[in-house]
Amino acid sequence: MLRRVCDYIPAQIRRRVGLFNLRGLALDIGGTGFRVAPFEIDRRKGKITFSGETKRESTPNVKNQTDVEPANLPGLLAAKIAQIVESYGSIDLIGASFAGPVTRDGVVVKAPNIWGKDVGNVALAQMVQDETGVRPLIANDMVPMAFREAVDGEAGREGVSRFTIITVSSGVGSANFETDHVPIGEMGVKGEIGHFVLPQFPKVECGCGGFKHLESFASGNAAQRIAQELAVSSKAEAYRQSPINDWTNGDPTKITGEHISRAQYFPIQECP
Ligand SMILES: [Zn+2]
Repeated sequence: MLRRVCDYIPAQIRRRVGLFNLRGLALDIGGTGFRVAPFEIDRRKGKITFSGETKRESTPNVKNQTDVEPANLPGLLAAKIAQIVESYGSIDLIGASFAGPVTRDGVVVKAPNIWGKDVGNVALAQMVQDETGVRPLIANDMVPMAFREAVDGEAGREGVSRFTIITVSSGVGSANFETDHVPIGEMGVKGEIGHFVLPQFPKVECGCGGFKHLESFASGNAAQRIAQELAVSSKAEAYRQSPINDWTNGDPTKITGEHISRAQYFPIQECP
């Protein structure tokens, strides 16, 4: 990449002087992978432009780093972020969305799908700052998604200034947008419906360690668990006659969320 004069001026000076464009990195840290995109802020025009390709990296997690103590996984992530930041030269700003509750100070409250159930209250923003010299802004991934919706999405177009945004993927994420901000509360979990307790439901353990949480009954992971249970009980015959039986070699424990979504494109036989 062609370097310009301002690239040779240290980031701290660029930030202080305020005459130059600021260079930043946007990170979307998910459970299995994260995406990295460079951007520039034109201070005079107040404009943000993405200035390069989006790269994909894998997130060090309990599944792919079985020989690492879960307590050391956050350090591994911070080191990986530092390596990426370094590969972009001098960076002024880092903004990161994270798949778990995060406080205003950048402390990750919990991330069971990434670091397991026992690792929590991780000062990730501080760790990244120690490694890179840049204080990152880190928030739960639903927060930037709500802002995006307010600016460019249906809500923005329709002039809706207060709304709730909900995503259903492996888990259930949600946030409330209120005019110009997303309240997250002290523990970073305000507005999160995924871990609401459903008292009338069976005692199923949630990925967070709690019981009877909404996410345990209405998410991709829940669909997988419920399909596996049904395939060995009341719907065993339907399973045997479905394409999922072939895809999983007749082993119900191999049913995944992906199989369930793929099966919707096949004609449904009459369920016994
Ligand atoms: Zn939960």
